Amino acid sequence: MYLADTLSRAYLNETSDTSITTDEIESINMVDELPISEVRISELQEHTKNDLQMQELKEVIQEGWPINKWNVPSSVSIYFDIRDELTLQNGLLFKGERVIIPKTLRTDMIKKIHSSHIGIEGCLRRARESLYWPGMNAEVKDFIQRCETCRTFERKQQKETLISHEIPSHPWSKVGIDLMTFQNNGPQFDCGEFRKFSRLWEFKHDTSSPLYSQSNGKVEKAVQTVKRLMKKSKFDKKDPYLAFLDFRNTPTEGFDNSPAEKLMNRKTRTLLPTKESLETERTKDLPTLKNGDTVRIQPPKFNKEWKKGTVKQQVNIRSYEVDVGARTIRRNRRQLKHTLEDDNNEPAEIERDNSDFEHGEINNQDHCENAPEIENAKETPITTRSGRVVKPPTRFKDFVCE
Ligand SMILES: [Zn+2]
Repeated sequence: MYLADTLSRAYLNETSDTSITTDEIESINMVDELPISEVRISELQEHTKNDLQMQELKEVIQEGWPINKWNVPSSVSIYFDIRDELTLQNGLLFKGERVIIPKTLRTDMIKKIHSSHIGIEGCLRRARESLYWPGMNAEVKDFIQRCETCRTFERKQQKETLISHEIPSHPWSKVGIDLMTFQNNGPQFDCGEFRKFSRLWEFKHDTSSPLYSQSNGKVEKAVQTVKRLMKKSKFDKKDPYLAFLDFRNTPTEGFDNSPAEKLMNRKTRTLLPTKESLETERTKDLPTLKNGDTVRIQPPKFNKEWKKGTVKQQVNIRSYEVDVGARTIRRNRRQLKHTLEDDNNEPAEIERDNSDFEHGEINNQDHCENAPEIENAKETPITTRSGRVVKPPTRFKDFVCE
């Protein structure tokens, strides 16, 4: 031990040769993670291969960066300051999760980013998620400033700052609607049918005052934006739905996520290369079923009945044999809903959100037996080394220990 730092205190006695076998090394292939067509990947690979600068950069990455910037070949010295983030995989160069685009494809990529004529800032927010090359921002800006379609449908200058509505906590909890028509077609929101509809579906219908439509400003602005996208795609003879797709996947100004992510918790696929890990879909495991548990089985077609069954045994990590009348069938855990109809087991096993169990199963009983410790813990909160306070899962909040 030459220097006793945090990492060296618990060093291993074995050398790496004996402790790590090739089976234990997990490698991640960035190219596999790119949800883009193989044609586009090979196009990127081809252009990277034929680009002198990309090839020199590849060599420097493979051989190791010189300590001093002046020893780096001049063509790639521009990458020196970000050298720690650069990797090479399957003939493609990456800066973090962003693909480095060779010179010959840059204009093509800018055209793709701007294909729906989304504004400069929106295009930059999109580009920064998956693409990289030195000077990209300036090139994107320059391209858009010269875009004929965009200049034709120039936006009026903003007069006043927008007073924002309070941001609701769930998607769809507050929906703003406005009509977009080319010809007048009547007062849809002000008719008996709509009032009846809102009463039947139990939602509150607020109208903005007819002479002060600005109070519905967020929606009016969205309508303006969508209308402009439609006009531009018509002018360009392009599919307006591709423009909507782009718009929905462009991070909103002031946020680091897009409308698609806010609504669906993930990005939807667009024509731009995007790294899969950016898709933030969250999944969670369903609790294991026990033998004898009563379940309802998902029907093959959505309009059929969910049949009742009893779990016979678990046959695989996520697969079960279920007795249904005289038959035994095998189903995946996803297709089985635990029900309490005939349940004689402890109620603690009800399907519930397991997201609080980050560090293994926690048992209610343990908490009861250790009640005094919990009391102490209330006065002096347990903290991690970094100072974060360790809190018990919120669902124990109303659990009374006596
Ligand atoms: Zn444009």
